[in-house]
Amino acid sequence: MSACSHRAAVRAGILITGTEVLTGIISDRNGPWLSERLVELGVDAAMIHIVGDRPDDLMAALRFMADSEMALIVTSGGLGPTADDLTVEIVAQFAGREMVLDAELEERIAEILRPLMSRWPGLDAEAIRSANRKQAVVPRGATVLDPVGTAPGLVVPPSDGACPIVVVLPGPPRELHEMWEKAVQTEPFRRAIAGAKVYRWGVVRLYGIPESEIANTLRAAADASVPLAPLEITTCLRRGEIEVATRYEAAAEPAYAAFLDFLAERHPDQLFSRDGSTVDEQMASLLAGSGWTVAVAESCTGGLMSGRLSELAGSSAYFLGGLVVYSNDAKISLAGVDPALIERFGAVSTEVAEALAVGAAMRLGADFGIGITGIAGPGGGTEEKPVGTVCFSVASRDGARLTRRLRLPGNRSDIRERSTTIAMHLLRRVLVGDVSAAPSSSVRDARTERA
Ligand code: ATP
Ligand code: MG
Repeated sequence: MSACSHRAAVRAGILITGTEVLTGIISDRNGPWLSERLVELGVDAAMIHIVGDRPDDLMAALRFMADSEMALIVTSGGLGPTADDLTVEIVAQFAGREMVLDAELEERIAEILRPLMSRWPGLDAEAIRSANRKQAVVPRGATVLDPVGTAPGLVVPPSDGACPIVVVLPGPPRELHEMWEKAVQTEPFRRAIAGAKVYRWGVVRLYGIPESEIANTLRAAADASVPLAPLEITTCLRRGEIEVATRYEAAAEPAYAAFLDFLAERHPDQLFSRDGSTVDEQMASLLAGSGWTVAVAESCTGGLMSGRLSELAGSSAYFLGGLVVYSNDAKISLAGVDPALIERFGAVSTEVAEALAVGAAMRLGADFGIGITGIAGPGGGTEEKPVGTVCFSVASRDGARLTRRLRLPGNRSDIRERSTTIAMHLLRRVLVGDVSAAPSSSVRDARTERA
């Protein structure tokens, strides 16, 4: 019986190694990825630690995790052939296992290196052989995971049969992902997570309410006797939307359904996704099957909206293109905005936003056009139009218009990013027909009317 099995939940620690990650030269992509994978297996990812390439710090972090009763530790990085790659050695010490040369593994690594050596005949063959040998020295009794690059991964149970086992993975994310799949199949890994509860996850998204309002909603749900106790609810603000993620056991499915109904009733216009789909995914599926197309003319977002519309695979079916019209001249010459409109209302105005939307649709021959114009700051604000003022418009060929002027909080990059979210939601509303079509005019007529 393992020393950790008395705990109700199976807990895991994630240990990210690498001085370049610690110092922020590269940002950690492995910690969050591993955390998600563990949660899917019903394992509580209890902590992520980042340490540099220092043996003492690595050892201290492993001991801390063991003392915190982790059933499992997953490490990332430090498996390479160079001297600063020392994870395996430290893990062996931690697990109380001596390092031994695995001759068969050495041969497998040599096999991987052979084509490389023939491609680079100038390489020092002896240096490569010794680096190869270093990677084939592993803790006795560890399960070796076949290399994806040149470095093998490992699953290392402690020599005394207690907790935690250590899963040793390479740093490059692509290699780590592939090797993770091998690690979860191994017998020691299976044993370590036996007894993990598999939870269900529900994710819903709301748009257009402050995060504080969700706290009120949860209180109101409790007052209305919605059974919240078996639901573990977390809320977070993401790209200007509120994501409500709920973890629950299968038996609590009715409680979750009741909670969802309560949310939908209280926020009918704001709850836009009950299945966790993002507004981008909804936009894509609304457009993909319809044969409709969309185009953009954007100013303060400088191409971000076009980037976002082309982010999902398959976007060529509906996204025709975008005009980045930063200057007034570009708005006039590329999007066909009437100079008199700019003169009269200013470049940041609902009138110009609408002209951009119409112009994008016309110039690119799209069914829907999006126009965005605003002041992202930090300079350029006025009393009447302070920094953060952004005007949006979505125009459809059949004359529907949805135009908004908003004042967005945050710094330049927040404002630009948030603007793309708002435009995406306006587009979605027009696509689902949640907007009264402007009387009579087509996209083309609307242009002529104004001219
Ligand atoms: P190698 O054999 O390539 O040296 P390794 O297992 O020793 O692999 P590291 O030396 O720690 O891994 O990292 C190699 C490279 O992998 C880093 O330079 C970086 O590009 C990438 N990498 C490592 N750790 C991370 C991480 N946590 N997030 C994102 N990228 C990472
Ligand atoms: Mg390395």
